[in-house]
Amino acid sequence: MSTAQHPPRSVEALLADGTTVSIRPLGPSDHAAVLGLHAERMSDDSRRLRFFGASRRAPQLAAERLSGPPRPELLALGAWAGGELVGEADCETVPGHPEAAELALAVADDWHHRGVATLLLEHLVHAARQNGIHTFEADTLADNRAVHRVFSDLGLPVRRRFEQGEVRVHVPLDEADEHYREAVDERGRSADVASLAALLRPASVTVVGASRRPGSVGQSVLLKIRQAGFTGELWAVNPYAAEIAGERAYPSPSTLPGTPDLAVLAVPPIAVASAAEECGRAGVRALVVLTSGLDADAARQLMHVCRRHSMRLVGPNSLGIAQTDPAIRLDAEFGGAFPLPGTAGVAVQSGGVGIALLERLAWLGIGVSSFVSLGDKYDVSGNDLLQWWESDGRTDLALLHVESFGNPRAFSRTARRVTRRFPILTVDAGRSPAGRRGAASHTAAAATPTVTRETLFRQAGITATRSIAELVDTAALLHSQPLPSARCAVAVVSNAGGVGILAADACADTGLTQLELPSDLVTELRDLLPGSASTANPVDTTAAVTPGQLAACLDTLSRSRAVDALLVCLVPTALTTAAQDDPLRALLDGPAHRRIPLAAVLLSQEVPVRLLTCADGGHIPSYTDPQDAARALAHARDRARRLAEPPSPEAAAPPGCDPAAARRLVESFLTANPGGGWLDPALTVELFDCYGLPLTISIWTPDEHGTVVAAQSLRQLGHRREVVLKAYWPGQVHKSAAGAVRTGLATDTQVRQTFREFTERFGSRLTGVVVQPMAAPGLELLAGVVQDRVFGPLVLLGLGGTATEVLDDRAARLAPLTERDLATMPAELRGSALLSGHQGAPAVDLAAVQDVLARLSHLATDLPQLAELDLNPLIARPDGVLCVDARARLEPRPSFDPYLRRLRRPAAAEED
Ligand code: ADP
Ligand code: MG
Repeated sequence: MSTAQHPPRSVEALLADGTTVSIRPLGPSDHAAVLGLHAERMSDDSRRLRFFGASRRAPQLAAERLSGPPRPELLALGAWAGGELVGEADCETVPGHPEAAELALAVADDWHHRGVATLLLEHLVHAARQNGIHTFEADTLADNRAVHRVFSDLGLPVRRRFEQGEVRVHVPLDEADEHYREAVDERGRSADVASLAALLRPASVTVVGASRRPGSVGQSVLLKIRQAGFTGELWAVNPYAAEIAGERAYPSPSTLPGTPDLAVLAVPPIAVASAAEECGRAGVRALVVLTSGLDADAARQLMHVCRRHSMRLVGPNSLGIAQTDPAIRLDAEFGGAFPLPGTAGVAVQSGGVGIALLERLAWLGIGVSSFVSLGDKYDVSGNDLLQWWESDGRTDLALLHVESFGNPRAFSRTARRVTRRFPILTVDAGRSPAGRRGAASHTAAAATPTVTRETLFRQAGITATRSIAELVDTAALLHSQPLPSARCAVAVVSNAGGVGILAADACADTGLTQLELPSDLVTELRDLLPGSASTANPVDTTAAVTPGQLAACLDTLSRSRAVDALLVCLVPTALTTAAQDDPLRALLDGPAHRRIPLAAVLLSQEVPVRLLTCADGGHIPSYTDPQDAARALAHARDRARRLAEPPSPEAAAPPGCDPAAARRLVESFLTANPGGGWLDPALTVELFDCYGLPLTISIWTPDEHGTVVAAQSLRQLGHRREVVLKAYWPGQVHKSAAGAVRTGLATDTQVRQTFREFTERFGSRLTGVVVQPMAAPGLELLAGVVQDRVFGPLVLLGLGGTATEVLDDRAARLAPLTERDLATMPAELRGSALLSGHQGAPAVDLAAVQDVLARLSHLATDLPQLAELDLNPLIARPDGVLCVDARARLEPRPSFDPYLRRLRRPAAAEED
């Protein structure tokens, strides 16, 4: 093992109670701290349990062992809170047994039961795995209940052997991966929620920078908090005023009569960091920073202060937050009106969008559970809010309008879990991902625009709409109506034939299934409706229908198992003179909530969407435009489909994947190229070998003689007579377009001549050539990995070759791929028929294609530094697949386990 594999610097993470601690490797400068932890911060009994006796020298020895100069056999991590070492976890291998490490843990007595040991262990497990350790072993005293609980709750299998009052514990680190991740997820969620309580359920709030100037941001927020009837304590801080808008003001956070949970900062940019520092010192647990325009320096300081004092941070540049729970009633925002209490969780990045969204929800009568304007999102992100709503017992619908979601991998994982409980709606305005990089690579440049991001959102379980209007339309339906079945066969009913046809067209446009009504249903409807009615789908009741007849028709349709959703289009007619004749009565007097969802289309309605209130108090969404109604139904159908899918296991790593070797390669490349870059052909071959990817033999040679020899040796190896020569220079893009690929070279003379042509054409740019055997012809596919800034790593499959951009036929999935993804990706291509054997051609070896996808999925998940990877072409044949052209680009990112619990560091730009 090597100490270089430690996290390179400290990371911050949350304890079970929401406190922030920082974790870093222990080193020579920590001697006093380690000694202090063992000698002063642990009782005699704790020391007995830790050291199996009361040796006076034990703390001294521990300090020497843990804080000596770096030793390759020792991994030691410390947890620090407020500058003090509160716990350590270490593991040490003995010579000759590099795969098993002896584990030791120590936690300061006053920090017990807060999850310090567990958090340290999670980080140590990660570091140990990275260093090729497969087991932790520990001797423990049988009465050391605390440590036994830590082991059993960790989520890894634990084997114990009892020997006379001692227990020998074995923890295999490679087993039960998904179970362990779930345990870590669950701890992460509850720690996150605990840390957010000060923000979203504060018992006391202070507004710092509340000014005497009426209309100022600080004063508005102060007044709003008071007017909304905040149930806790409220204090104003202003060094220059004794009173603000009738509220007593205090000169600083430390002079307040109590410790506020939450501080709202409305001070000038240069004062933000110092105000935050004062809040931290006074014991504040969360900040909402309304101030905008912080420079990079002020931003860094603010983050630093928040982490050091264990404060969660919303903003800066936030519009504020609102919590409608009657037990709290906090309206700490300066945008709009205090939202109605309800069940929609709303988080937005842009304040303007937030106000618009809240207004539309209020207008619809959809209440809000909590609202957070995330602003510049230094700390609290959409991901935090999803976890809060998942646990707050009030939220059943999440509306997110954000440009990115913090740590993309963690986000995809959280989203997949949360959407099993309730819908997450977001707007995908089709922004081009930041990772896209012009002509840098076939895959990265070409894939993202064509791959519909909607597919990816859907895979994460998220309902992605194209506009705020569509978001609100969909929220209205999901909020008020049951989900359809996955089939979602729609029956359209109208009292004006033309409108019914418009609605039927809208259903077709959005891909909704239009059912043909079964004959018994047709007969039943004929008996119910006026004689001139058309009882096929769309059902035209004609304007002569009475509300009673229409109600009976709707009841019959919603009882029929053939129908999964109803679209009811009504226009007022000349016949509706009296209110009781209005066909709308059929909806308003009937049940709002049926077995199947119902959406109304009222063409004469003056707003695009409303929620009609029925006699039973329930609601029916009604739209002016049938397209809007159909789109909302299609979103509901997509959600139903996703929920109906049985969970599919992650695709297992095929044999021959060696992530540890790949990590070493990545690390040494990035040490030599700190800015990252493209791997040269030789390193590309090595990386492919680490994951058993089928790359054709590629011999790299710098000169003519080497080229001829390489070609001869390929022939001697029994390959086909012909070879391929590819000119190489760093940074090249499309080789064949530049004339740098020559295939089918059969003789030494041709090889020599081609080499000379290359040197003539490319001159000093040329650094060498790659010699490959000529591969047997087959179907040219593209496979690859690309990083998306919202979703994290994606695996791609498409039709490849030099015409891949023109063909523009690709499927993408979030990594890690599931077994189902492996099955559906090839089938999803427009040209999938080419794979299964087209016009007499034999089918390609699909299992081999899927094997490559599974390997790419693991490669992408194991190596966050892999910015893009491109196999084009991957030549697929009935007897297997072979890649003849590969490119990979690495970026310097810390090799953190994406699932490792830690707080974000936006300033270091390591995630977004
Ligand atoms: P680039 O994609 O940079 O233009 P490639 O190495 O992919 O360069 O070569 C272009 C095309 O040449 C491939 O799509 C493939 O059709 C063909 N080709 C390249 N290498 C081989 C090979 N070893 N065997 C057979 N055909 C090859
Ligand atoms: Mg190529």
